[in-house]
This record gives sequence, C-alpha cells and structure tokens, in this order.
Amino acid sequence: MSLIKPLPTLALVLPCFNEEDVLGITIPHLSALLNSYIENKLISADSFALFVDDGSRDRTWNILLTNQSPHVKSIKLSHNVGHQYALMAGLTYVTNKVDCCVSLDADLQDDSSVIEQMIQDYRQGSQIVYGVRGSRNSDKQMKSGTAHLFYRLMKQMGVDLIYDHADFRLLSNKVLVELQHYKEVNLFLRGLFPMMGFQSSIVYYARKERVAGKTKYPFKKMLHLAVDGITSFSNLPLKMITYIGFTVFVASFLISLWVLFQRFYGITVPGWASITLPMYFLGGIQLLALGVIGEYLGKIYMETKARPRYHIEEEA
Ligand code: UDP
Ligand code: MG
Repeated sequence: MSLIKPLPTLALVLPCFNEEDVLGITIPHLSALLNSYIENKLISADSFALFVDDGSRDRTWNILLTNQSPHVKSIKLSHNVGHQYALMAGLTYVTNKVDCCVSLDADLQDDSSVIEQMIQDYRQGSQIVYGVRGSRNSDKQMKSGTAHLFYRLMKQMGVDLIYDHADFRLLSNKVLVELQHYKEVNLFLRGLFPMMGFQSSIVYYARKERVAGKTKYPFKKMLHLAVDGITSFSNLPLKMITYIGFTVFVASFLISLWVLFQRFYGITVPGWASITLPMYFLGGIQLLALGVIGEYLGKIYMETKARPRYHIEEEA
C-alpha cells in the first residue's frame, strides 16, 4: 500500500563548528534548494534550514545573524559540545515544529541533491531514510580504512549499524518524538535509529569534497566517537576481559604444574625469563582490563549525573 502524504514541512538540520569558510556557500545553496522544492510543490512554504552553531570561535554566528534568507533559522549553543550533541540539539529544536527533517553536514559533503528522493520515500511511508555513501572517493585512504574497520568491528559486536551511513538521514516527526525518550548522555545517534525499528529505506549518494575549510573531525575525535559507539551499545569488551582472564588462569595453572614437575625431578633452571615474562604479560592484561572497566564506569558516572547535553544561548 502506498500512502502519499500531503505537502510536508521540512527542516534541514546542520551542526556547524568554526564553519565561517563554508557558510557563504552553504546558506545560499540550501536556500535555493528549499525554494525550488517549495516551487515544485514537494514541501510546504514554511520549511526551513536550521543551523546549530556548536560554540564556534570564529565568525560562524555573525554570518548566521546577518543572513537575509527567510528560510534560515539558527540557534547558538553556549559552548562546543561536539557534533553528536549539536545534532541532537537541532533535532530536539525542530521536534513537533515540522513533519520531517534531514540532518546533514554544513560543509555540503553530503549530496543535497538526493534530499528530494528522501522526501519522496517519506511521502511513500518511510519514517527514516538513510543516506548511504555509494562512493568514498573523496575520503582519504586512512579515513575510509579506519571507517571500514569500525563498521566491521561494530557488526562483530552485534550492533546493527547501516554500513557507510553517517549522519545524513531523514527522520519523520514520529521518530523525532520517540528520540526524545532516549535520555542517554553518551550519544551515538547512528546506532540508535536502526535499533528503533521504524519503517526505513536507503538512498545512495556520492560523498563529495568539503566545499571549503578544514575537517573538524581529527583522528582523536573519530577515535572518541568509535569508543563511544562500541561501549554505548555493547558489553562485549567486558565479556572479553572475562574470557582473557579465564585463559590466563588456565595457562598459569598449567605453568604451575610444569614448575612443580621440574621441582620434583630436580631440574633447576635459572628462572629469570619465566618470572619476568608473565609479570609483564599479566601486568599488561590487568591494566587493559582496568581501562575497559574504567571506560564503562565513567559512562555510568556520566549517565547517573544526567546533566543537560547542551544549552541554547541564542536563537535567530
Ligand atoms: N561539527 C560540530 N561540532 C564539532 C565538530 C564538528 O558541529 O565539534 C560539525 C561540522 O561543522 C560539520 C559536521 O559536524 O558540519 C561534520 O564535521 P566535519 O565535516 O569536520 O567532519 P568530516 O566530514 O571531516 O568527517
Ligand atoms: Mg565534512
């Protein structure tokens, strides 16, 4: 059954951190896009693009304030909270103000021309439409390599991620409302939506080059996101500690038998290697185990505080 919905109100949600170089291109581009969709009766006239200034330290907020486009709204967060929370701030802001929204990066790497297809899918009944990178030619070798490894690792851990989908997606207002029930401080949005299980579809696109400026996702932030993704959705690292602990226990039991055997048969060996090697080995495993437990403990600590994830300082 295909259920064609009436003209939806659409919000484009764009987190921006120090994006003064790209906004001069992005704002007119998206305004023109929205205008053409409105003229072609794809979306309603009150649709808009929402820019979320994630505590930028450059002219991002000034540029947003001086823009003249009637289809552009902006909110300013009081400090830099990172891409996931900034996106969450935008999604929360548009909840119950629109019929659907599309989140995309401010640098236009996500191909905005497929948004039309996303809206068509939404009007056919999809509650979530995932933008999936059909081509990663524009990403550096290192980025696509580590991303590939990450998706595979998550799959192994039983986390239902859409392969090569980042944060370019359409969400219906129904999904936005449901999203508000997820109060977790450790947010990994691309893991949440597949878990929700709403009717969804996929739109493929070619990831483009950044239109201007530099990436705001250095390796350190990517690693942080990966650790958050794994520890927020899987207990496997904790289980692995148990397995490793068990293996080491069995091994040390066997070694003890061997030592006893040597003792009784009077074979005396200078025992330097057999003492120091297990020491380093066990020390290493213990530190690793403590680190993993600490990572989870830290997460629990942050969750129990249940602090607000961001603060909106200004609206325009
Ligand atoms: N971003 C943000 N807060 C941050 C880092 C990034 O809002 O702390 C935004 C950034 O402005 C961009 C999007 O997140 O719109 C994706 O970042 P970027 O393009 O730098 O990442 P890449 O595409 O290189 O992975
Ligand atoms: Mg980018």
